Amino acid sequence: MRLTVVGANGRMGRTLVRLIAEHPDLALHAALAREGSPALGQDAGMLAGTGPLGALLTADAETALAGADGVIDFSTPATSRRLAELAAARGLVHVIGTTGFSAADEAAIGKAAAGARIVKSGNMSLGVNLLATLVETAARALPPGAFDIEIVEMHHRHKVDAPSGTALLLGRAAAAGREVELEAASVRVRDGHTGPRPEGAIGFATLRGGSVVGDHQVMLAGEGERIELGHRAEDRSVFARGALTAALWAGGKAPGLYSMRDVLGL
Ligand code: NAP
Repeated sequence: MRLTVVGANGRMGRTLVRLIAEHPDLALHAALAREGSPALGQDAGMLAGTGPLGALLTADAETALAGADGVIDFSTPATSRRLAELAAARGLVHVIGTTGFSAADEAAIGKAAAGARIVKSGNMSLGVNLLATLVETAARALPPGAFDIEIVEMHHRHKVDAPSGTALLLGRAAAAGREVELEAASVRVRDGHTGPRPEGAIGFATLRGGSVVGDHQVMLAGEGERIELGHRAEDRSVFARGALTAALWAGGKAPGLYSMRDVLGL
């Protein structure tokens, strides 16, 4: 399968280029970077530390997609939204790991899924997707009047969106277990005189610092007892490997919008 990597000089992009080069069933087709990026023209393999792979970073999305089977995209919401439209026009696989989408972005990507085979997830790791199923089960079993759900996450100092896509994914799993909409139940920020905790709220707390790849803790706090379900990512390759698994899986599917839980059969 020939894959175009978007944001090929980013933290995730470089990890993806390295893993594609090592994979027997995948080839790096092209490497896309931001217009004006100082890395344009450089070999993606040199940036990823694999040695030259013959794919020079370009800002020309049309050329980078021509002849590709799929696009792996950990970039920015605006970039992923535009690429979903280009992927739809060509019927390509589009794996979207980018986080921080607005409701309008989500709607545009949903529309593009009529033509593209899109796998989109705020977290591509097996561990976090299994955690989401555990959270959904726990939230379904424990009544909202007796157990309060709080989600705490920590990421490196460069992360630009909050709460993390993974924290929101886990929040949606908790909301699904309770059969409520996350948007209506979530409390994302607390400051000053907040008053008591609303019953049934799903709370979020965000920590940022250092080089933390991604820590998530879901707490279900009751009277006199607390259940904690958590995940720590130690290396970005867990997300990259999941994204490549998703690309190969989606190659055989009809156009549509899929999640990592679909890919993993969870
Ligand atoms: P990063 O290091 O900032 O990488 C993003 C890359 O995208 C940068 O190289 C950036 O280039 C590039 N880019 C920006 N605009 C572009 C455009 N128009 N065309 C092509 N490339 C463009 O960030 P990261 O840590 O790799 O994370 C990227 C995204 O993935 C974030 O949204 C993050 O939250 C998400 N993420 C998701 C998962 C998951 O499992 N779903 C895991 C990790 C990260 P410049 O640097 O030149 O601007």
